[in-house]
Amino acid sequence: MRSAPTILHLDMDAFFAAVEQASKPSLRGKPVVVGGIGNRGVVSTASYEARVHGVHSAMAIAHARRLCPNAAYLYPRFGIYRQISEIVMALLAEVSPLMEPLSLDEAFLDLEAGAAATGSPAGPREVAEGLRARIRADTGLTASVGLAGSKLLAKIASEQAKPDGLLVVEPGTERALLDPMPVRTLWGVGPATAEHLRRAGITTVAEISGAGEAELVRLLGKSHGAGLYAMAAGLDNRPVVADRDVKSVSVEDTFDHDLTDRAHVRHEIDRLADRCVQRLRGAGRSGRTVVVKVRRYDFSTLTRSETLRAPTDDPSVVRETARRLIEAVDITGGLRLLGVGVTGLADFTQEDLFAQRAAEREPGESDAAELPSSPPPPPARSDRWLSGQDVVHEEYGPGWVQGSGVGRVTVRFEVPTDTLPGRVRTFAVEDPALTHGEPLPLVALRDTPLPTPQQPRPTPGAAGDATPEPEPPAVAQSSPGRAPKSRSGAGTGSGPERGTSIP
Ligand SMILES: [Mg+2]
Repeated sequence: MRSAPTILHLDMDAFFAAVEQASKPSLRGKPVVVGGIGNRGVVSTASYEARVHGVHSAMAIAHARRLCPNAAYLYPRFGIYRQISEIVMALLAEVSPLMEPLSLDEAFLDLEAGAAATGSPAGPREVAEGLRARIRADTGLTASVGLAGSKLLAKIASEQAKPDGLLVVEPGTERALLDPMPVRTLWGVGPATAEHLRRAGITTVAEISGAGEAELVRLLGKSHGAGLYAMAAGLDNRPVVADRDVKSVSVEDTFDHDLTDRAHVRHEIDRLADRCVQRLRGAGRSGRTVVVKVRRYDFSTLTRSETLRAPTDDPSVVRETARRLIEAVDITGGLRLLGVGVTGLADFTQEDLFAQRAAEREPGESDAAELPSSPPPPPARSDRWLSGQDVVHEEYGPGWVQGSGVGRVTVRFEVPTDTLPGRVRTFAVEDPALTHGEPLPLVALRDTPLPTPQQPRPTPGAAGDATPEPEPPAVAQSSPGRAPKSRSGAGTGSGPERGTSIP
């Protein structure tokens, strides 16, 4: 617990829905629900206009449709969410080297470490407002920020500040903020614990404090009870952790809604395994033990690991091992967090063991090419048009699928920079003039500073500058040695090309 509010929690407002509204001018100010696929689909994110009708994250889509039949129901476009996430995370990393991402749109930042690293005299509030302004300028989206002396309170504060706000929890005011909150606000209180506490007459944080530590321990056991009692008093000393363990490389994601579907879990595990390998290779390392981490809906956490015969940095080996480990985990009730890590790092790979896999690759294929940075797009069959998807029509240009059925697909032709809603046209699903498209940037590219050749090439005699900015390779998109959260998509393109590609 710090005596100054130097722990920052930033959370994008209704992230997926906000991206959709920014992408699709006709949906601005309208209820938008981004959600899962199929009959068991749940709401990932609802826009504030939809929340007014009672729609919220993790609700069944079918239920949401009854509450808010006029909302736009869209499939998620993870590719663009990840692109924007990378921009946001890069802005955060500029403020402090001590950054702990929690999900695509959420992270903790240690401003004490930031002040030490950057030498900036700006106070926490100033830093937070600066960040919010930069995010708005570079992404067109709003973020809310909480500042406090602990992670728990910073996170609660950002939630209170929503949307588009900043809340500073001044030291000494922690209890006043926490006391009236429901017990579910505290980390570690899932539905089961909350129900347990409710039966004992405890529904608010103040009532946890009032019950006393002994009673909490009696109700919930020693570690959980004591931990919760301390948290209710605002005591939380957990540090912001950028890299948990230098002897291991790991990545994890917290999901907006609990994962309950095996196929979905498998898909996320593959994605995490690939990101983990990307980071591993970025560090020029390999490892022997693959670890899978799971946090269940009730915050219980477990890890499973498997040690290989030799170190690897092969994405397919890590993926297969992680899959095997996750298959053995009971996912009943849902998972809120998944992680994949590799530990027992070695400096080189035992090439012989995995030589066969390497030989299977196409000659000349770059390593980066086999590491998908985003989930695969939905099936690209022309008879499968998903609401919200990007499309391009030969004659009418870029647009998005507004709906489809009985052999027809309705497309709205508009782009993010439009100020008025675009026109709607309907086509046969097999229309050859209609194809799947790429997401367009939310703000005009010129808003992002173009990489300019600022410094002249070092003269032959200038030996002091031993580490010049590496030239990006002509083809490969990988950026060895850089954190995977770096803005690789936006920063490595060549300047002139980007300048002329403004739509
Ligand atoms: Mg958010």
